[in-house]
Amino acid sequence: MTGIALRDIRKSYPNGPQVLHGVSLDIRPGEFVVVVGPSGCGKSTLLRLIAGLETTAEGEIEIGGQPAGHLAPQDRDIAMIFQNYALYPHMSVRENIAFGLELRGMPRAERRARAEEVAAILQLSPYLDRKPKALSGGQRQRVAMGRAMARKAGVFLMDEPLSNLDNALRVAMRTEIKELHRRLGATIIYVTHDQTEALSLADRIAVMKGGHLQQFATPDEIYDRP
Ligand code: ADP
Ligand code: ADP
Repeated sequence: MTGIALRDIRKSYPNGPQVLHGVSLDIRPGEFVVVVGPSGCGKSTLLRLIAGLETTAEGEIEIGGQPAGHLAPQDRDIAMIFQNYALYPHMSVRENIAFGLELRGMPRAERRARAEEVAAILQLSPYLDRKPKALSGGQRQRVAMGRAMARKAGVFLMDEPLSNLDNALRVAMRTEIKELHRRLGATIIYVTHDQTEALSLADRIAVMKGGHLQQFATPDEIYDRP
């Protein structure tokens, strides 16, 4: 299992104000960390830096105990799931799940087998040959999770993964994500602005405000529950 350490991360966008003002965070291997905070406080920027999708920043990022600042996204032990799922409309579920494995040079038969294995876990087997537009919102969300799972990464980054779903589905998917965390034994960093989601999912909650980390503690400690 893979831990993440951030040391004094500072970040500005070109011609913009500073977005992160020295964030330090130690995430244990296998931990489920939820990052909360108002819109614009730097949550997505933090995830994108960990994924390697943003580079120029001050400070250090360690993944699995190794300095990772210089590593390209595909060389990090990380899979990211985006809010809009980023599915390819012209590709089948199978191809969407396997996408990324091809980029990494995995042979076709192995990619197919991996996609089928992941689809079975996510109850997507009947839909392998469908296109995303012929799926429900929850199924699309699972395809996006499947693509991330196919990478067999040690760390999953999720940026508001449920915010496009209706309320009933959001509650159901929350349970699924929790179950998935148990099964995968992976480390998860999950961004949301939904307090209920944070409370039900997190081992620890990172509270951000204005580019600072304000608190990093268990739900009980943060919301002062007995
Ligand atoms: P959050 O995820 O908490 O809503 P973000 O990390 O998306 O916060 O954004 C933090 C700040 O950085 C915001 O003020 C946003 O406008 C700004 N920002 C985000 N991405 C860019 C970018 N690519 N270029 C310039 N400014 C950006
Ligand atoms: P994508 O649109 O799927 O991100 P890119 O060509 O932009 O495809 O991918 C950039 C790199 O990120 C690729 O080398 C790929 O291996 C990797 N990658 C693909 N999917 C993911 C994912 N879900 N999370 C993190 N990295 C990914």
